[in-house]
Amino acid sequence: MSERKGGCLCGAVRYELKAEPAVTAVCHCTHCQRQSGSVFSTNVVVMAQDYVQHGQTKVFEDRGDSGQGVHRHFCGHCGSPILSTIDIMPGMLMIKMGTLDDFSGIAPGIEVYTDHAVSWISPIAGARRFGQASG
Ligand SMILES: [Zn+2]
Repeated sequence: MSERKGGCLCGAVRYELKAEPAVTAVCHCTHCQRQSGSVFSTNVVVMAQDYVQHGQTKVFEDRGDSGQGVHRHFCGHCGSPILSTIDIMPGMLMIKMGTLDDFSGIAPGIEVYTDHAVSWISPIAGARRFGQASG
């Protein structure tokens, strides 16, 4: 199986995925909007044991609207967001899709926090939509 690889803009942080994503989720929440500098983030969900990182990330300790911790890892040199872990999904990593070297074969299966989605983005074909968090 070919590995997917990715990394930050400057290359100080690189990673490999040992498995294909479980799901890919577009998140329209206000924190993802602000952290990404865009108006949504696209997150590739993998198990922590299927992720190998080279180089150190810094971590911003955030909180989701559940009040549970969201740990936002980013490159301390170039500022690229790399991944988040959330306390309500232990063992899972939400990797920022834009940091992958190759997007082929990956498309969002869900959209979450669509209550905050900007009006000029159409629903993504084939993705289930949730006004707040999923499920
Ligand atoms: Zn970097």
